[in-house]
Amino acid sequence: MVKDTKLYDLLGVASDADASQLKKAYFRLAQKFNPNLSENKEKFQEINNAYELLKDDAQRALYDKYGLNDMGKAQQVPGDIGSVFEEILKKQSQQYGPQQAQVLVQEVWVTLEQMFNGADVSVQITRQIKCAECKGVGGSTPNCVGKCDQCNGMGIVLARMQQGGRIIQQQIVCPKCNGEKECVKNPRNLCQKCCGKRFSTEQKTHQVRVEPGTADGQQLTLFQEGNWELGAQGDCVIVFKQTNSTFRREEADLFMTKEIGLDEAVCGTSFKLQHLSGEEITVFKGECIGHGQVMCCKGLGMPVKGRIYEHGNLFVTFEVKFPQKISLEVRKLIADALGSEDSRKRINACAELKHDGARNIELTYVDPTQKTKNADSSGQQEYNDHREEGNTQEMQCGAM
Ligand SMILES: [Zn+2]
Ligand SMILES: [Zn+2]
Repeated sequence: MVKDTKLYDLLGVASDADASQLKKAYFRLAQKFNPNLSENKEKFQEINNAYELLKDDAQRALYDKYGLNDMGKAQQVPGDIGSVFEEILKKQSQQYGPQQAQVLVQEVWVTLEQMFNGADVSVQITRQIKCAECKGVGGSTPNCVGKCDQCNGMGIVLARMQQGGRIIQQQIVCPKCNGEKECVKNPRNLCQKCCGKRFSTEQKTHQVRVEPGTADGQQLTLFQEGNWELGAQGDCVIVFKQTNSTFRREEADLFMTKEIGLDEAVCGTSFKLQHLSGEEITVFKGECIGHGQVMCCKGLGMPVKGRIYEHGNLFVTFEVKFPQKISLEVRKLIADALGSEDSRKRINACAELKHDGARNIELTYVDPTQKTKNADSSGQQEYNDHREEGNTQEMQCGAM
């Protein structure tokens, strides 16, 4: 007799289903709720979780006996259940092999100019090092350390966690020995300096090189400059992050937007540009430029990573700022210079047309973010309020 059948129900099988029945049911449902084809990603996750637990004989035995909610408590129960859990953990700790110290990640913010030219930056890292007092043992004498009793020398324990309204089992690093599998048996023997933690904290400054062409998010590993963990000095990984710049960057290309007037759009433009190299560059084009037109300055991009003597390009998107008003005299001049007979006629026709609100509509300048709201949206709110009031009254009646 099983305690609860929730996981079996999810897979649509009986609680005495054998391994092949479970597998068949799982594959059928996994296909049906495949997240690439189905909207119901949560259901897929549930089916997955259920199958992961039930396909493991030891976990299934626990689930059958205690149900999903009480599985975790079973870990503290002595006897057969304790040993079942031990089996699961032993299998997992073998599966994952000897644990390694986690990499210490340090973000370093650099400017796009530094990424362009290359730079040496100093980085201060706070890290854990082997306790000098106890030589990383954690106790006053080397033989005061023994197998950790909380994880039974496996470095990991199972913990119950809540995830999206469900209780799941997850293995975590043993909080007592920090995954070291051993700890000081008698608190009297704890190292006075590190109190059994095995490490002390130090601040260290490194000079690191930002190579020309360094990408946002590029990493640099400093070997054995990370934390002292699990009996070894781990590595530190420096992650270069780019601060904001006037240029947008995509790999070795740079992008910028330039606003020009109507006169520049028609007659051509030239402007000065403070480039990342530190040089002031004059950029020009002596022909017409359209609104939204993209033009390129060849070779003004970033150094190409791996081929630093090559450079990407700089792309300029032009935004033409039109004047809101041009006097009639000037419009006539423009029509004479650029326009046709039609444009001259149109100028005169516009001057004669009158806005009458019916057939002649004159366009007006507006703020495009200004929106017109439906008048009955507040009516809907009133209706909702009324309904809620009604419900409350009903509830009150019921309570009385
Ligand atoms: Zn110590
Ligand atoms: Zn432990």
